[in-house]
Amino acid sequence: MKEPYTKKDYKTRSYWLESLGEITLNSSLQGEEKTDIAIIGGGYTGLSAGYHLRIYDSSINVTLLEAEICGYGASGRNGGFNMTLFGLTPSLTKLFFGVERGKQARKFMEEAVDYLAEFIQKNNIDCDYENSGYLLVATNKAQIKRLEHEIEVAKEMDFEGVELWDRERLLSEFKTDKYYL
Ligand SMILES: Cc1cc2nc3c(=O)[nH]c(=O)nc-3n(C[C@H](O)[C@H](O)[C@H](O)COP(=O)(O)OP(=O)(O)OC[C@H]3O[C@@H](n4cnc5c(N)ncnc54)[C@H](O)[C@@H]3O)c2cc1C
Repeated sequence: MKEPYTKKDYKTRSYWLESLGEITLNSSLQGEEKTDIAIIGGGYTGLSAGYHLRIYDSSINVTLLEAEICGYGASGRNGGFNMTLFGLTPSLTKLFFGVERGKQARKFMEEAVDYLAEFIQKNNIDCDYENSGYLLVATNKAQIKRLEHEIEVAKEMDFEGVELWDRERLLSEFKTDKYYL
């Protein structure tokens, strides 16, 4: 027989779950229930879909079904970076999709990053949010060339807020000489 959910030691599964106070689980679904929309999975995708459906129309009855506990999957175990990157470098985006679609993708990601910052503020989410930008660093000389190329492509596609730092700036801002750039 499957062990009762209340006995699972979720606090040992991730930093996020460990940092929560007392965890009280909802009872599991018994029998059948009717709902307008059933969402499977309480990660970012499911929770965001449920939240925004209710913002769109508060009369919609949304039911979210989570097999374990919300945040049990990747959403509770990730690096927590909210970035304009979406898996492809600027040069690969340009290569696969061209300059115009690359610009559109960048704009979309900038809006997404801003939206999350607003969302956190509006909903008073206690998540140590920092709007700090991000660094891509080089640990060898070949990577310096790649970074310089990415900066050129980013400029060609009019990406704002992208700049190349030298070693001295990295040293002065982050007190490290581990990286070339
Ligand atoms: C190590 C790591 C680091 C990452 N770092 C970042 C980062 O810094 N920035 C970033 O933007 N992204 C990052 N990601 C990616 C990001 O975490 C995922 O893209 C995102 O969390 C996916 O969310 P999701 O809701 O789609 O899936 P999940 O968070 O995996 O949620 C799926 C949920 O569905 C539940 N479920 C599964 N099957 C069922 C079922 N049959 N019935 C009911 N419930 C079910 C699971 O228990 C789980 O809770 C990282 C991912 C990993 C793994």
